[in-house]
Amino acid sequence: MPIPTELVGSLPRPEKLQNAYQDLDDGKITWEDLQALQDEAAEDSIKRLEATGEPIVTDGEQRESSFATYPITDTLAGTGLADNLAGDGQFFAIFDDGHHRQLPRLTGGPFRYKTFASEFVEKNRKIATHDVKQAVIAPSMLMLLYPLEGEIEGYSRDQFLADLCDEVEKDIRQCFAAGAVRVSVDFTEGRLANKNDARNPWTGRNMLQDFIDLNNQVFDRFSPEERRNIGIHTCPGGDNDSVHSKEVPYEKLLSKMFEINAGYFLIQCASEEDKEEVYRLCGRYSRDDANGVAQVCFMGVINPLTPEVETAEQVKNDLLTAAKHIPVERLGATDDCGFSPFSRDLKPKHGSPDFARDVAMQKISARLEGTRMASEELGV
Ligand SMILES: [Zn+2]
Repeated sequence: MPIPTELVGSLPRPEKLQNAYQDLDDGKITWEDLQALQDEAAEDSIKRLEATGEPIVTDGEQRESSFATYPITDTLAGTGLADNLAGDGQFFAIFDDGHHRQLPRLTGGPFRYKTFASEFVEKNRKIATHDVKQAVIAPSMLMLLYPLEGEIEGYSRDQFLADLCDEVEKDIRQCFAAGAVRVSVDFTEGRLANKNDARNPWTGRNMLQDFIDLNNQVFDRFSPEERRNIGIHTCPGGDNDSVHSKEVPYEKLLSKMFEINAGYFLIQCASEEDKEEVYRLCGRYSRDDANGVAQVCFMGVINPLTPEVETAEQVKNDLLTAAKHIPVERLGATDDCGFSPFSRDLKPKHGSPDFARDVAMQKISARLEGTRMASEELGV
């Protein structure tokens, strides 16, 4: 079987759509107006991805406030926030360029999603002629909605975590029921968990093992056959062409991450200084039997944070090197991250989100062609 390849999920939203999110926050347009523009951008994303030959497509997350907040708010500014949440939660991440992203704060129970990702899958399946995948958010990210210290009166942390796992399980199951062939779970907080950033208290609390255990509470509800198609995505962040945790030694995460009983991993690597070391670590720590499923390592061969387009030759060479460390039957190719995980993302290194959208398609084409070349050379 040729080396499989898959995108993470997001694409830059067209500038017009980004402005419309702002217009909704400002009360200048209605939710229906915004939805019409989301649908238009989603359709364009699917058609353009299919034109590159991408075997499994997404809508580029054009309908989502972000990869992390789609279940609980319509916009990043908090328009359409779900029940029992306030806007002033903890920082999710502080990025290297100084900007930050903040989560809402849970004020009471019960915790419930207002939007499930299957809504997007249903719409996308009507447009796509290729298979459809969907990225969903990990429970380990949303556990940060609960205040770091103390308990919410009348809604214990344990009750919240139980409700959260139920919602995430439902999110994944509903995506498959709506026709997604793959569901990947975004786990960008994994590497950040070892950052010890004094400005962002949760990163100093040694939470990586808690994150992994919580995620496994959800993964363990699925059969090995189901988990073959449930992935985990890791990266050091990717927002406004900046990262949040690239300086954290990767081994701290990679030595633990494969404890998650996922069938595949979408692993940032192209932007690492020492890519071969990452292949080595993935070869060393990934498992050929994670409670009944072999873990496939989709290595990042494309950096979505830079406008320079990788060549197919480069992609091929990266994969050939990776194949020295990772068994080829457990090797795949991906991009380091989504191309724009948050709905307001100006892509400053690219000059504009519209240009970044064009660049993303060229980069994806290079990944597809380079993966094809590597498969040929490896005789798979
Ligand atoms: Zn990412």
